[in-house]
Amino acid sequence: MELTNVGVIKSILGRHGFSFTKSLGQNFLTNPSVAPKMAKEGGAGPGMAVLEIGPGLGVLTKELAKAADQVLAVELDKKLEPVLKETLGDFDNVEVVYGDILKLDLEKLINEKFANKDFVVCANLPYYITSPIIMLLLESSLPFKSLTLMVQREAADRICAPVGSRQAGALTVAVAYYAKAVKLFNVSRGSFLPQPKVDSCVIRLDLLEKPAIEVEDEAGFFRMVRAAFGQRRKTALNAISAGLDLPKEQVAEALKRAELAPNIRAEKLDMEQLGRLFKNLQI
Ligand code: SAM
Repeated sequence: MELTNVGVIKSILGRHGFSFTKSLGQNFLTNPSVAPKMAKEGGAGPGMAVLEIGPGLGVLTKELAKAADQVLAVELDKKLEPVLKETLGDFDNVEVVYGDILKLDLEKLINEKFANKDFVVCANLPYYITSPIIMLLLESSLPFKSLTLMVQREAADRICAPVGSRQAGALTVAVAYYAKAVKLFNVSRGSFLPQPKVDSCVIRLDLLEKPAIEVEDEAGFFRMVRAAFGQRRKTALNAISAGLDLPKEQVAEALKRAELAPNIRAEKLDMEQLGRLFKNLQI
């Protein structure tokens, strides 16, 4: 069964009386070359387990199941259950769990299903939750090796931008703290049914052995980062002092002690400078 063929998709969906829910980001892959490439570059292989988020009709799930030992897929839309039963019926190494990836007890689920197996995450993400999913996974202590994700092209540009460049934002810093982000390949909007209004890109976040910089209080560091990038037109001094409700003198003093210009903007700060600023902020 060629799951990327529009005729086949329409026939399966028609048979199960399924209609797309736009608000769940349901754009299903119709370009046959994308899922095999994603599975390969995402590290699905012998001895590996894979967590997939949002299997949809199972296009990527099938490729992951062919390559890896075990696949656990989390799908929010219970209406897809009869569809996935049919499309994944031939695979005995796939399990689909129905629920919201942002609300499930993921640690419990992963411990239960993967025990101590090495695993990777691979997903054509619903775009409305790209950032929360990335942050949830990076901030968890789940032992995955990498996240291979299809995201909007603009999100890929931001996530993979160097920290200290114009495109960098708070998410860029958070990703660079935990992982090395690489753009793998672009995917045009014509590769999906229904066709979205934007193009996509597959990226991979390879987890670092230890965070890129040493900070004593991670939560505090990220609060400062969010404040610094929260008001992009302001200087880091004004943005941090407004965002964290700190006296300007305290932030100015921290910039000085960190040997940074008083009027510097957050987007000019690299990872090491952000770490130094936080250390000197003493919050
Ligand atoms: N993997 C399929 C493909 O590549 O054709 C479908 C990808 S589609 C862009 C996103 C999928 O994520 C949909 O099946 C949607 O129902 C599911 N989804 C949306 N929000 C979710 C959530 N919070 N938790 C789990 N799955 C979700």
